[in-house]
Amino acid sequence: MAERMLKFVGTPQALPEKRPAAERRRDFQEIYAQYARDKAAEQAARCSQCGVPFCQIHCPLHNNIPDWLKLTAEGRLDEAYELSSATNNFPEICGRICPQDRLCEGNCVIEKGFESVTIGAVEKFITDTAWDRGWVKPIQPRRERVESVGIVGAGPAGLAAAEQLRRKGYQVAIYDRYDRVGGLLIYGIPNFKLEKDIVQRRETLLRDSKVSFHLNCEVGRDVSLAQLRERHDAVLLATGVYKARDIAAPGVGLPGIAAALDYLTASNRQGLGEKVPDFESGALDAKGKNVVVIGGGDTAMDCVRTAVRQGAKSVKCLYRRDRANMPGSQREVKHAEEEGVEFVWLSAPQAFLGNDTVSHVRSVRIHLGMPDASGRQTPQEIPNSHVNIEADLVLKALGFDPEDLPAMFAASDLAVTGWNTLKIDWRSMMTSLDGVFAAGDIVRGASLVVWAVRDGRDAAERIHSYLTAKAPMTANGAALPVAAE
Ligand code: FAD
Ligand code: SF4
Ligand code: SF4
Repeated sequence: MAERMLKFVGTPQALPEKRPAAERRRDFQEIYAQYARDKAAEQAARCSQCGVPFCQIHCPLHNNIPDWLKLTAEGRLDEAYELSSATNNFPEICGRICPQDRLCEGNCVIEKGFESVTIGAVEKFITDTAWDRGWVKPIQPRRERVESVGIVGAGPAGLAAAEQLRRKGYQVAIYDRYDRVGGLLIYGIPNFKLEKDIVQRRETLLRDSKVSFHLNCEVGRDVSLAQLRERHDAVLLATGVYKARDIAAPGVGLPGIAAALDYLTASNRQGLGEKVPDFESGALDAKGKNVVVIGGGDTAMDCVRTAVRQGAKSVKCLYRRDRANMPGSQREVKHAEEEGVEFVWLSAPQAFLGNDTVSHVRSVRIHLGMPDASGRQTPQEIPNSHVNIEADLVLKALGFDPEDLPAMFAASDLAVTGWNTLKIDWRSMMTSLDGVFAAGDIVRGASLVVWAVRDGRDAAERIHSYLTAKAPMTANGAALPVAAE
Protein backbone atom coordinates (compact mmCIF):
# COMPACT_ATOMS: atom_id res chain seq x y z
CA MET A 1 0.00 0.00 0.00
CA ALA A 2 2.68 2.41 1.10
CA GLU A 3 4.21 2.35 -2.36
CA ARG A 4 1.09 3.66 -4.08
CA MET A 5 -0.37 5.83 -1.31
CA LEU A 6 1.12 8.43 1.11
CA LYS A 7 2.17 10.72 -1.75
CA PHE A 8 1.22 13.95 -0.01
CA VAL A 9 4.83 14.98 0.65
CA GLY A 10 5.89 14.88 -2.99
CA THR A 11 2.56 15.56 -4.72
CA PRO A 12 1.01 18.95 -4.04
CA GLN A 13 -2.74 19.35 -3.64
CA ALA A 14 -4.45 20.04 -6.98
CA LEU A 15 -8.16 20.66 -7.37
CA PRO A 16 -9.70 20.11 -10.82
CA GLU A 17 -9.07 23.06 -13.11
CA LYS A 18 -11.08 26.13 -12.11
CA ARG A 19 -12.32 28.31 -14.96
CA PRO A 20 -10.96 31.89 -14.93
CA ALA A 21 -13.21 34.35 -13.06
CA ALA A 22 -13.66 36.55 -16.15
CA GLU A 23 -15.10 33.56 -18.04
CA ARG A 24 -17.21 32.35 -15.08
CA ARG A 25 -18.87 35.74 -14.72
CA ARG A 26 -20.43 35.35 -18.16
CA ASP A 27 -22.29 32.06 -17.70
CA PHE A 28 -24.02 29.79 -15.19
CA GLN A 29 -21.99 26.67 -15.84
CA GLU A 30 -20.15 24.88 -13.03
CA ILE A 31 -16.82 26.47 -12.26
CA TYR A 32 -14.68 23.33 -11.88
CA ALA A 33 -13.78 20.96 -14.70
CA GLN A 34 -13.68 17.19 -14.14
CA TYR A 35 -10.41 15.48 -13.10
CA ALA A 36 -8.73 13.48 -15.79
CA ARG A 37 -8.48 9.85 -14.71
CA ASP A 38 -4.72 9.95 -13.98
CA LYS A 39 -5.10 13.20 -12.03
CA ALA A 40 -7.85 11.70 -9.83
CA ALA A 41 -5.62 8.68 -9.13
CA GLU A 42 -2.66 10.95 -8.38
CA GLN A 43 -4.64 13.09 -5.95
CA ALA A 44 -6.29 10.06 -4.27
CA ALA A 45 -2.80 8.63 -3.72
CA ARG A 46 -1.93 11.58 -1.47
CA CYS A 47 -4.04 9.97 1.29
CA SER A 48 -1.98 8.51 4.13
CA GLN A 49 -4.61 5.80 4.91
CA CYS A 50 -5.01 6.82 8.54
CA GLY A 51 -5.85 4.11 11.05
CA VAL A 52 -8.32 6.52 12.65
CA PRO A 53 -9.56 8.55 9.64
CA PHE A 54 -10.79 11.91 10.92
CA CYS A 55 -12.14 12.69 7.44
CA GLN A 56 -14.59 9.80 7.79
CA ILE A 57 -15.54 10.70 11.35
CA HIS A 58 -16.41 14.24 10.27
CA CYS A 59 -18.39 13.23 7.19
CA PRO A 60 -22.06 13.13 8.30
CA LEU A 61 -22.48 9.94 6.23
CA HIS A 62 -19.29 8.37 7.60
CA ASN A 63 -18.27 7.60 4.05
CA ASN A 64 -15.52 5.04 3.77
CA ILE A 65 -13.17 7.68 2.36
CA PRO A 66 -9.73 6.04 2.79
CA ASP A 67 -10.88 2.85 1.06
CA TRP A 68 -12.43 4.53 -1.98
CA LEU A 69 -9.41 6.81 -2.28
CA LYS A 70 -7.15 3.74 -2.36
CA LEU A 71 -9.33 2.02 -4.97
CA THR A 72 -9.24 5.20 -7.09
CA ALA A 73 -5.45 5.38 -6.79
CA GLU A 74 -5.32 1.77 -7.99
CA GLY A 75 -7.62 2.51 -10.95
CA ARG A 76 -10.36 0.20 -9.56
CA LEU A 77 -13.10 2.76 -10.18
CA ASP A 78 -16.02 0.32 -10.38
CA GLU A 79 -15.21 -0.91 -6.87
CA ALA A 80 -14.65 2.66 -5.66
CA TYR A 81 -18.14 3.49 -6.94
CA GLU A 82 -19.71 0.47 -5.22
CA LEU A 83 -18.16 1.49 -1.93
CA SER A 84 -18.92 5.19 -2.23
CA SER A 85 -22.55 4.63 -3.22
CA ALA A 86 -23.09 2.18 -0.36
CA THR A 87 -23.16 5.03 2.17
CA ASN A 88 -24.27 8.00 0.06
CA ASN A 89 -27.26 8.23 -2.29
CA PHE A 90 -25.89 11.29 -4.09
CA PRO A 91 -22.06 11.22 -3.93
CA GLU A 92 -21.68 13.34 -7.08
CA ILE A 93 -23.94 16.02 -5.53
CA CYS A 94 -22.19 16.04 -2.14
CA GLY A 95 -18.80 16.02 -3.91
CA ARG A 96 -19.88 19.25 -5.62
CA ILE A 97 -21.64 21.18 -2.86
CA CYS A 98 -20.65 19.95 0.61
CA PRO A 99 -18.69 22.60 2.50
CA GLN A 100 -15.73 20.21 2.59
CA ASP A 101 -13.55 22.78 4.34
CA ARG A 102 -15.80 22.39 7.40
CA LEU A 103 -16.37 18.61 7.10
CA CYS A 104 -14.16 15.86 5.63
CA GLU A 105 -11.32 17.90 4.12
CA GLY A 106 -11.15 20.35 7.01
CA ASN A 107 -10.39 17.38 9.26
CA CYS A 108 -7.92 15.56 7.01
CA VAL A 109 -4.77 15.03 9.07
CA ILE A 110 -2.47 16.18 6.29
CA GLU A 111 -4.34 19.50 6.12
CA LYS A 112 -1.71 21.12 8.33
CA GLY A 113 1.23 22.18 6.19
CA PHE A 114 0.50 19.99 3.15
CA GLU A 115 -3.12 20.82 2.23
CA SER A 116 -5.82 18.17 2.57
CA VAL A 117 -6.65 15.39 0.16
CA THR A 118 -9.23 16.69 -2.36
CA ILE A 119 -11.89 14.28 -1.11
CA GLY A 120 -14.95 16.02 -2.58
CA ALA A 121 -13.46 16.32 -6.07
CA VAL A 122 -12.48 12.61 -6.08
CA GLU A 123 -15.94 11.60 -4.82
CA LYS A 124 -17.54 13.57 -7.65
CA PHE A 125 -15.13 12.05 -10.18
CA ILE A 126 -15.92 8.48 -9.09
CA THR A 127 -19.69 8.85 -9.45
CA ASP A 128 -19.65 10.99 -12.60
CA THR A 129 -17.50 8.24 -14.14
CA ALA A 130 -20.03 5.64 -12.95
CA TRP A 131 -22.84 7.55 -14.70
CA ASP A 132 -20.78 7.93 -17.88
CA ARG A 133 -20.02 4.23 -17.97
CA GLY A 134 -23.58 3.09 -17.23
CA TRP A 135 -22.80 1.59 -13.82
CA VAL A 136 -25.63 3.50 -12.12
CA LYS A 137 -28.67 1.29 -12.60
CA PRO A 138 -32.35 1.53 -11.58
CA ILE A 139 -33.26 -0.35 -8.43
CA GLN A 140 -34.68 -3.83 -8.83
CA PRO A 141 -35.68 -5.02 -5.37
CA ARG A 142 -35.14 -8.70 -4.69
CA ARG A 143 -38.78 -8.93 -3.66
CA GLU A 144 -41.70 -6.50 -3.73
CA ARG A 145 -43.45 -5.65 -0.48
CA VAL A 146 -47.11 -4.77 -0.22
CA GLU A 147 -46.73 -1.85 2.17
CA SER A 148 -46.52 1.65 0.79
CA VAL A 149 -44.77 4.72 2.14
CA GLY A 150 -45.86 8.27 1.30
CA ILE A 151 -43.06 10.84 1.31
CA VAL A 152 -43.90 14.54 1.47
CA GLY A 153 -41.08 16.57 -0.11
CA ALA A 154 -38.85 15.70 -3.09
CA GLY A 155 -35.71 17.36 -1.68
CA PRO A 156 -32.56 15.38 -0.83
CA ALA A 157 -34.01 14.00 2.44
CA GLY A 158 -37.15 12.67 0.74
CA LEU A 159 -35.27 11.34 -2.29
CA ALA A 160 -32.62 9.53 -0.21
CA ALA A 161 -35.35 7.92 1.91
CA ALA A 162 -37.27 6.93 -1.24
CA GLU A 163 -34.24 5.21 -2.72
CA GLN A 164 -33.46 3.31 0.46
CA LEU A 165 -37.07 2.19 0.92
CA ARG A 166 -37.40 1.13 -2.69
CA ARG A 167 -34.26 -1.00 -2.33
CA LYS A 168 -36.11 -2.88 0.40
CA GLY A 169 -39.07 -3.40 -1.93
CA TYR A 170 -41.56 -0.86 -0.51
CA GLN A 171 -44.05 0.92 -2.78
CA VAL A 172 -42.97 4.56 -2.58
CA ALA A 173 -44.95 7.66 -3.58
CA ILE A 174 -43.46 11.15 -3.33
CA TYR A 175 -45.66 14.26 -3.08
CA ASP A 176 -44.27 17.75 -3.76
CA ARG A 177 -45.86 21.15 -4.14
CA TYR A 178 -43.29 22.14 -6.76
CA ASP A 179 -43.55 21.19 -10.42
CA ARG A 180 -40.05 19.69 -10.41
CA VAL A 181 -38.17 17.15 -8.31
CA GLY A 182 -35.17 18.15 -6.17
CA GLY A 183 -36.35 20.76 -3.62
CA LEU A 184 -33.58 23.28 -2.98
CA LEU A 185 -31.24 21.29 -5.23
CA ILE A 186 -33.28 22.48 -8.21
CA TYR A 187 -34.79 25.84 -7.17
CA GLY A 188 -32.37 27.10 -4.48
CA ILE A 189 -28.80 26.14 -5.36
CA PRO A 190 -27.60 27.83 -8.58
CA ASN A 191 -26.29 26.04 -11.65
CA PHE A 192 -22.72 27.23 -11.19
CA LYS A 193 -22.52 25.04 -8.07
CA LEU A 194 -24.74 22.17 -9.25
CA GLU A 195 -25.93 21.83 -12.83
CA LYS A 196 -29.58 20.82 -13.07
CA ASP A 197 -29.10 17.74 -15.24
CA ILE A 198 -27.13 16.18 -12.35
CA VAL A 199 -30.32 16.36 -10.26
CA GLN A 200 -32.63 15.43 -13.11
CA ARG A 201 -30.81 12.19 -13.93
CA ARG A 202 -31.38 11.15 -10.29
CA GLU A 203 -35.11 11.79 -10.75
CA THR A 204 -35.12 9.63 -13.89
CA LEU A 205 -33.33 6.86 -12.01
CA LEU A 206 -35.98 6.90 -9.27
CA ARG A 207 -38.82 6.91 -11.80
CA ASP A 208 -37.17 3.95 -13.59
CA SER A 209 -36.97 2.29 -10.17
CA LYS A 210 -40.79 2.61 -9.95
CA VAL A 211 -40.95 5.38 -7.38
CA SER A 212 -44.07 7.40 -8.22
CA PHE A 213 -44.16 11.20 -8.10
CA HIS A 214 -47.18 13.44 -7.46
CA LEU A 215 -45.96 16.92 -8.37
CA ASN A 216 -47.87 20.21 -8.02
CA CYS A 217 -49.47 18.52 -5.03
CA GLU A 218 -49.32 20.48 -1.80
CA VAL A 219 -50.05 18.47 1.30
CA GLY A 220 -52.43 20.55 3.39
CA ARG A 221 -54.08 22.04 0.28
CA ASP A 222 -54.49 19.41 -2.47
CA VAL A 223 -54.45 16.41 -0.18
CA SER A 224 -54.51 16.28 3.61
CA LEU A 225 -52.01 14.58 5.90
CA ALA A 226 -54.93 12.56 7.28
CA GLN A 227 -55.67 11.25 3.76
CA LEU A 228 -52.01 10.29 3.27
CA ARG A 229 -52.06 8.40 6.56
CA GLU A 230 -55.09 6.47 5.31
CA ARG A 231 -53.49 5.83 1.94
CA HIS A 232 -50.04 4.69 3.14
CA ASP A 233 -48.67 2.40 5.84
CA ALA A 234 -46.17 5.08 6.90
CA VAL A 235 -45.61 8.72 6.00
CA LEU A 236 -42.34 10.68 5.96
CA LEU A 237 -42.43 14.47 6.23
CA ALA A 238 -39.38 16.04 4.52
CA THR A 239 -40.72 19.47 3.62
CA GLY A 240 -37.72 21.68 4.44
CA VAL A 241 -37.81 25.21 5.84
CA TYR A 242 -39.01 28.10 3.69
CA LYS A 243 -40.21 31.02 5.83
CA ALA A 244 -37.64 33.76 5.14
CA ARG A 245 -36.45 35.75 8.16
CA ASP A 246 -37.08 39.47 7.73
CA ILE A 247 -35.33 42.66 8.78
CA ALA A 248 -37.03 45.08 11.15
CA ALA A 249 -35.83 48.38 9.67
CA PRO A 250 -37.62 51.44 8.22
CA GLY A 251 -38.26 51.22 4.49
CA VAL A 252 -37.96 47.44 4.32
CA GLY A 253 -41.21 47.24 2.32
CA LEU A 254 -39.94 49.42 -0.56
CA PRO A 255 -40.08 47.97 -4.09
CA GLY A 256 -36.65 46.69 -5.12
CA ILE A 257 -36.19 44.77 -1.85
CA ALA A 258 -36.73 41.03 -2.25
CA ALA A 259 -36.29 37.75 -0.41
CA ALA A 260 -33.19 35.81 -1.47
CA LEU A 261 -34.98 32.57 -2.28
CA ASP A 262 -37.55 34.33 -4.51
CA TYR A 263 -34.63 35.83 -6.41
CA LEU A 264 -32.71 32.54 -6.71
CA THR A 265 -35.83 30.57 -7.67
CA ALA A 266 -36.63 33.08 -10.43
CA SER A 267 -33.06 32.80 -11.74
CA ASN A 268 -33.13 28.99 -11.61
CA ARG A 269 -36.52 28.81 -13.35
CA GLN A 270 -35.30 31.20 -16.02
CA GLY A 271 -32.19 29.03 -16.48
CA LEU A 272 -34.46 26.01 -16.92
CA GLY A 273 -36.07 27.78 -19.89
CA GLU A 274 -39.24 29.06 -18.23
CA LYS A 275 -40.82 32.47 -18.71
CA VAL A 276 -40.66 34.07 -15.26
CA PRO A 277 -42.80 37.25 -15.02
CA ASP A 278 -40.76 38.78 -12.16
CA PHE A 279 -37.59 38.24 -14.14
CA GLU A 280 -39.03 39.48 -17.44
CA SER A 281 -40.33 42.65 -15.74
CA GLY A 282 -36.84 43.28 -14.37
CA ALA A 283 -37.99 43.12 -10.73
CA LEU A 284 -35.82 40.08 -9.99
CA ASP A 285 -33.14 40.65 -12.62
CA ALA A 286 -29.88 42.25 -11.41
CA LYS A 287 -28.77 43.38 -14.87
CA GLY A 288 -27.28 46.90 -14.77
CA LYS A 289 -28.17 47.34 -11.08
CA ASN A 290 -26.29 48.14 -7.90
CA VAL A 291 -27.05 45.07 -5.83
CA VAL A 292 -26.72 44.80 -2.05
CA VAL A 293 -27.11 41.38 -0.45
CA ILE A 294 -27.64 41.21 3.29
CA GLY A 295 -26.38 38.10 5.08
CA GLY A 296 -23.31 35.88 5.35
CA GLY A 297 -24.50 32.32 4.71
CA ASP A 298 -24.65 30.02 1.68
CA THR A 299 -27.79 31.71 0.39
CA ALA A 300 -26.14 35.15 0.44
CA MET A 301 -23.10 33.75 -1.41
CA ASP A 302 -25.38 32.26 -4.08
CA CYS A 303 -27.19 35.60 -4.49
CA VAL A 304 -24.05 37.68 -4.96
CA ARG A 305 -22.61 35.27 -7.47
CA THR A 306 -25.91 35.04 -9.38
CA ALA A 307 -26.11 38.85 -9.52
CA VAL A 308 -22.61 39.02 -11.01
CA ARG A 309 -23.65 36.56 -13.74
CA GLN A 310 -26.81 38.51 -14.51
CA GLY A 311 -24.63 41.53 -15.32
CA ALA A 312 -25.08 43.69 -12.20
CA LYS A 313 -23.30 47.05 -12.18
CA SER A 314 -21.92 46.42 -8.69
CA VAL A 315 -22.45 43.71 -6.07
CA LYS A 316 -21.88 44.20 -2.35
CA CYS A 317 -22.42 41.77 0.48
CA LEU A 318 -23.22 43.32 3.86
CA TYR A 319 -22.54 41.13 6.87
CA ARG A 320 -22.68 42.15 10.52
CA ARG A 321 -19.79 39.94 11.69
CA ASP A 322 -16.31 39.51 10.20
CA ARG A 323 -14.95 37.04 7.70
CA ALA A 324 -13.79 34.58 10.37
CA ASN A 325 -17.25 34.49 11.94
CA MET A 326 -19.43 34.13 8.89
CA PRO A 327 -21.57 30.98 8.50
CA GLY A 328 -20.92 30.55 4.75
CA SER A 329 -18.06 28.49 3.36
CA GLN A 330 -14.70 30.30 3.00
CA ARG A 331 -14.29 28.66 -0.39
CA GLU A 332 -17.46 30.36 -1.59
CA VAL A 333 -16.26 33.77 -0.35
CA LYS A 334 -13.05 33.30 -2.30
CA HIS A 335 -14.94 32.41 -5.48
CA ALA A 336 -17.20 35.46 -5.00
CA GLU A 337 -14.25 37.79 -4.45
CA GLU A 338 -12.52 36.47 -7.56
CA GLU A 339 -15.74 37.16 -9.49
CA GLY A 340 -15.78 40.80 -8.33
CA VAL A 341 -18.04 40.84 -5.27
CA GLU A 342 -17.19 43.38 -2.57
CA PHE A 343 -17.66 42.22 1.03
CA VAL A 344 -18.56 44.89 3.56
CA TRP A 345 -17.78 43.12 6.83
CA LEU A 346 -18.99 44.33 10.24
CA SER A 347 -21.89 46.28 8.75
CA ALA A 348 -25.64 46.04 9.30
CA PRO A 349 -28.59 47.75 7.60
CA GLN A 350 -30.22 50.46 9.70
CA ALA A 351 -32.78 51.70 7.12
CA PHE A 352 -33.71 51.46 3.46
CA LEU A 353 -34.02 54.78 1.67
CA GLY A 354 -35.88 55.74 -1.51
CA ASN A 355 -39.10 57.25 -2.80
CA ASP A 356 -40.89 54.92 -5.25
CA THR A 357 -38.23 52.26 -5.05
CA VAL A 358 -35.15 51.58 -2.95
CA SER A 359 -32.14 53.78 -3.78
CA HIS A 360 -29.79 53.35 -0.79
CA VAL A 361 -29.14 51.11 2.18
CA ARG A 362 -28.19 53.06 5.28
CA SER A 363 -25.65 50.82 6.97
CA VAL A 364 -24.01 51.14 10.34
CA ARG A 365 -20.58 49.86 11.41
CA ILE A 366 -20.49 47.04 13.94
CA HIS A 367 -18.08 46.23 16.75
CA LEU A 368 -17.96 42.64 18.01
CA GLY A 369 -18.39 42.75 21.78
CA MET A 370 -18.27 40.15 24.54
CA PRO A 371 -19.35 36.58 23.71
CA ASP A 372 -22.99 35.76 24.55
CA ALA A 373 -24.33 32.51 26.07
CA SER A 374 -23.75 30.71 22.74
CA GLY A 375 -20.07 31.76 22.79
CA ARG A 376 -20.40 34.08 19.76
CA GLN A 377 -19.34 37.72 20.09
CA THR A 378 -22.32 40.07 20.21
CA PRO A 379 -22.53 42.60 17.35
CA GLN A 380 -22.82 46.16 18.70
CA GLU A 381 -23.55 49.23 16.60
CA ILE A 382 -20.86 51.95 16.59
CA PRO A 383 -22.68 55.27 17.14
CA ASN A 384 -22.62 57.80 14.28
CA SER A 385 -20.84 55.41 11.94
CA HIS A 386 -23.51 55.11 9.25
CA VAL A 387 -22.95 55.38 5.51
CA ASN A 388 -25.45 55.28 2.63
CA ILE A 389 -24.75 52.58 0.06
CA GLU A 390 -26.26 52.92 -3.41
CA ALA A 391 -28.71 50.10 -4.15
CA ASP A 392 -31.33 49.40 -6.87
CA LEU A 393 -31.87 45.80 -5.77
CA VAL A 394 -31.57 44.60 -2.16
CA LEU A 395 -31.70 40.89 -1.38
CA LYS A 396 -32.47 39.71 2.14
CA ALA A 397 -30.62 36.48 2.93
CA LEU A 398 -30.99 36.16 6.68
CA GLY A 399 -31.98 32.51 6.95
CA PHE A 400 -35.15 30.48 7.10
CA ASP A 401 -37.61 29.22 9.70
CA PRO A 402 -40.23 26.50 9.43
CA GLU A 403 -43.82 27.39 8.61
CA ASP A 404 -46.59 26.76 11.15
CA LEU A 405 -46.52 23.00 10.65
CA PRO A 406 -49.52 21.89 12.75
CA ALA A 407 -51.61 24.45 10.81
CA MET A 408 -50.08 23.54 7.44
CA PHE A 409 -50.88 19.86 7.98
CA ALA A 410 -54.15 20.48 9.89
CA ALA A 411 -52.78 18.32 12.71
CA SER A 412 -52.93 20.12 16.05
CA ASP A 413 -51.36 17.09 17.78
CA LEU A 414 -48.22 17.27 15.60
CA ALA A 415 -45.60 18.34 18.17
CA VAL A 416 -43.02 21.02 17.33
CA THR A 417 -39.90 22.28 19.13
CA GLY A 418 -39.25 25.79 20.46
CA TRP A 419 -37.80 26.62 17.01
CA ASN A 420 -40.99 25.35 15.31
CA THR A 421 -39.14 22.45 13.70
CA LEU A 422 -40.81 19.04 13.91
CA LYS A 423 -40.23 17.26 17.19
CA ILE A 424 -39.17 13.65 16.68
CA ASP A 425 -38.00 10.82 18.89
CA TRP A 426 -34.40 10.58 17.57
CA ARG A 427 -34.29 6.81 18.18
CA SER A 428 -37.35 6.09 16.03
CA MET A 429 -37.41 9.33 13.98
CA MET A 430 -41.17 9.30 14.50
CA THR A 431 -43.13 12.48 15.17
CA SER A 432 -45.86 12.65 17.80
CA LEU A 433 -48.21 11.00 15.25
CA ASP A 434 -48.07 7.22 14.96
CA GLY A 435 -46.50 6.12 11.67
CA VAL A 436 -45.51 9.68 10.68
CA PHE A 437 -41.74 10.19 10.48
CA ALA A 438 -39.68 13.30 9.66
CA ALA A 439 -36.24 14.05 8.17
CA GLY A 440 -34.04 16.87 6.86
CA ASP A 441 -34.29 20.62 7.40
CA ILE A 442 -37.81 20.32 8.78
CA VAL A 443 -36.26 18.58 11.81
CA ARG A 444 -32.81 20.21 12.02
CA GLY A 445 -33.65 23.71 10.81
CA ALA A 446 -31.78 25.07 7.75
CA SER A 447 -28.80 22.73 7.37
CA LEU A 448 -26.89 20.94 4.62
CA VAL A 449 -27.65 18.51 1.81
CA VAL A 450 -25.37 15.87 3.31
CA TRP A 451 -27.32 15.97 6.59
CA ALA A 452 -30.60 15.70 4.67
CA VAL A 453 -29.26 12.57 2.95
CA ARG A 454 -28.15 11.14 6.28
CA ASP A 455 -31.57 11.82 7.84
CA GLY A 456 -33.40 10.38 4.85
CA ARG A 457 -31.38 7.16 5.10
CA ASP A 458 -31.88 6.92 8.85
CA ALA A 459 -35.62 7.55 8.51
CA ALA A 460 -35.89 4.80 5.87
CA GLU A 461 -34.26 2.34 8.31
CA ARG A 462 -36.63 3.34 11.13
CA ILE A 463 -39.68 3.13 8.85
CA HIS A 464 -38.55 -0.36 7.84
CA SER A 465 -38.24 -1.38 11.52
CA TYR A 466 -41.67 0.10 12.25
CA LEU A 467 -43.34 -1.68 9.34
CA THR A 468 -41.64 -5.03 9.89
CA ALA A 469 -42.62 -4.91 13.58
CA LYS A 470 -46.22 -4.31 12.48
CA ALA A 471 -46.14 -6.77 9.59
CA PRO A 472 -47.54 -9.93 11.23
CA MET A 473 -50.54 -7.99 12.51
CA THR A 474 -53.04 -6.91 9.87
CA ALA A 475 -56.58 -5.75 10.44
CA ASN A 476 -57.98 -9.22 9.73
CA GLY A 477 -55.14 -10.98 11.54
CA ALA A 478 -53.56 -12.45 8.36
CA ALA A 479 -49.78 -12.28 7.92
CA LEU A 480 -48.55 -9.90 5.24
CA PRO A 481 -46.19 -11.27 2.58
CA VAL A 482 -43.06 -9.49 3.76
CA ALA A 483 -39.65 -10.59 2.60
CA ALA A 484 -36.96 -11.31 5.17
CA GLU A 485 -33.99 -8.95 4.91
P1 FAD B 1 -35.71 20.78 0.71
O1 FAD B 1 -34.57 20.62 -0.20
O2 FAD B 1 -36.11 22.14 1.08
O3 FAD B 1 -36.95 20.03 0.04
C1 FAD B 1 -38.24 20.11 0.62
C2 FAD B 1 -39.29 19.83 -0.44
O4 FAD B 1 -40.55 19.77 0.21
C3 FAD B 1 -39.40 20.93 -1.49
O5 FAD B 1 -39.33 20.36 -2.78
C4 FAD B 1 -40.77 21.56 -1.23
O6 FAD B 1 -41.41 21.98 -2.42
C5 FAD B 1 -41.52 20.40 -0.61
N1 FAD B 1 -42.65 20.81 0.23
C6 FAD B 1 -42.65 21.72 1.24
N2 FAD B 1 -43.88 21.80 1.80
C7 FAD B 1 -44.68 20.93 1.13
C8 FAD B 1 -46.05 20.55 1.24
N3 FAD B 1 -46.86 21.08 2.15
N4 FAD B 1 -46.53 19.63 0.36
C9 FAD B 1 -45.73 19.07 -0.58
N5 FAD B 1 -44.41 19.39 -0.72
C10 FAD B 1 -43.90 20.29 0.13
N6 FAD B 1 -26.45 22.83 1.41
C11 FAD B 1 -25.25 22.31 1.09
O7 FAD B 1 -24.89 21.23 1.58
N7 FAD B 1 -24.41 22.96 0.23
C12 FAD B 1 -24.75 24.12 -0.38
O8 FAD B 1 -23.98 24.65 -1.15
C13 FAD B 1 -26.02 24.67 -0.09
N8 FAD B 1 -26.43 25.80 -0.70
C14 FAD B 1 -27.67 26.28 -0.43
C15 FAD B 1 -28.10 27.41 -1.11
C16 FAD B 1 -29.36 27.93 -0.87
C17 FAD B 1 -29.80 29.13 -1.63
C18 FAD B 1 -30.21 27.33 0.10
C19 FAD B 1 -31.55 27.91 0.40
C20 FAD B 1 -29.79 26.19 0.77
C21 FAD B 1 -28.52 25.66 0.52
N9 FAD B 1 -28.08 24.51 1.15
C22 FAD B 1 -26.85 23.99 0.84
C23 FAD B 1 -28.94 23.80 2.12
C24 FAD B 1 -29.66 22.60 1.47
O9 FAD B 1 -30.18 22.96 0.22
C25 FAD B 1 -30.75 22.07 2.40
O10 FAD B 1 -30.20 21.80 3.66
C26 FAD B 1 -31.39 20.78 1.85
O11 FAD B 1 -31.89 20.97 0.55
C27 FAD B 1 -32.50 20.30 2.78
O12 FAD B 1 -33.11 19.19 2.21
P2 FAD B 1 -34.62 18.79 2.56
O13 FAD B 1 -34.91 17.58 1.72
O14 FAD B 1 -34.78 18.69 4.02
O15 FAD B 1 -35.52 20.02 2.10
FE1 SF4 C 1 -16.99 15.04 2.33
FE2 SF4 C 1 -19.56 15.58 1.95
FE3 SF4 C 1 -18.43 13.60 0.62
FE4 SF4 C 1 -18.84 13.36 3.25
S1 SF4 C 1 -20.40 13.52 1.66
S2 SF4 C 1 -16.98 12.80 2.11
S3 SF4 C 1 -18.52 15.48 3.93
S4 SF4 C 1 -17.92 15.75 0.43
FE1 SF4 D 1 -6.59 10.11 4.04
FE2 SF4 D 1 -6.81 12.59 5.10
FE3 SF4 D 1 -8.67 10.75 5.56
FE4 SF4 D 1 -6.25 10.46 6.64
S1 SF4 D 1 -7.73 12.07 7.11
S2 SF4 D 1 -7.51 8.85 5.67
S3 SF4 D 1 -4.99 11.33 5.00
S4 SF4 D 1 -8.16 11.63 3.56
